[in-house]
Amino acid sequence: MLNGKIALVTGGARGIGRAIALKLASQGADIAILDAGSLELSEQTAEEIRGLGVRAFAARCDITDYDQVTAAVAQVKEALGGVDILVNNAGITRDKLALRMTPEDFDAVLSVNLKGTFLMIKALYADFMRRRSGRIINIASISGLMGNAGQANYSASKAGVVGLTKTIARELASRNITCNAIAPGFIETPMTASMNQDALEEACKSIPLRRMGKPEDVANLAAFLASDDAGYITGSVINVDGGFFMR
Ligand code: NDP
Repeated sequence: MLNGKIALVTGGARGIGRAIALKLASQGADIAILDAGSLELSEQTAEEIRGLGVRAFAARCDITDYDQVTAAVAQVKEALGGVDILVNNAGITRDKLALRMTPEDFDAVLSVNLKGTFLMIKALYADFMRRRSGRIINIASISGLMGNAGQANYSASKAGVVGLTKTIARELASRNITCNAIAPGFIETPMTASMNQDALEEACKSIPLRRMGKPEDVANLAAFLASDDAGYITGSVINVDGGFFMR
């Protein structure tokens, strides 16, 4: 259980982030949602979370902007008292073959998925050190482990998240802080709904468990990694992909 813990989830308004926020709340954690999208949607999720009997705080924040990140983290601390669990979930895609991918497409995806994750960790790093406890969970992707045609920017960003995860795990291990990554496969969310559905259907035929994942499949692992039971796991990258990418 996560009673008395405070979790911050980026991109928590919808999709996988929303499922993680609700799951952690169902285990007793208070939840802060930072999302660049509509505050109304974040507030809707926060209201659902409050319905589970815990506290929830939502704010707009573009995680690529360090001033916004530090201001939002300060608001979270003011509203809820601190952060024990950081879930770096916010992410975007701008899929195109590398031939057609613009430098701006590349920068935009690297900026949210990799730099944004770094900025969130940086903003809470000193707090975690002082508290001598904490959990950092980064949402990577199997694209970052195996590559994916049309995702040069996205797979590079997620491979970067894996390197970042292992480095932070090493830097903070002596302070009893763990940092792990989850690598989802194909999960039913607005992100995959916007993909080419024929290509997606074709890819799903190669999933050994014969179905796309649900946001809750990812949330279940996030809740475990956030728990005391996962205290001896750090620097790990764990797939939630129905067996799609077995190494
Ligand atoms: P969604 O697009 O459904 O949700 C992502 C959320 O992140 C949105 O609410 C979005 O807000 C927010 N966001 C985007 N950019 C920023 C930003 N700069 N600052 C703060 N918030 C931002 O995505 P998913 O739920 O599908 O994906 C969640 C994570 O899981 C991502 O990191 C993704 O790469 C990863 N993943 C997803 C897979 C899938 O199959 N769905 C597979 C593997 C990994 P806005 O309204 O502004 O877009």
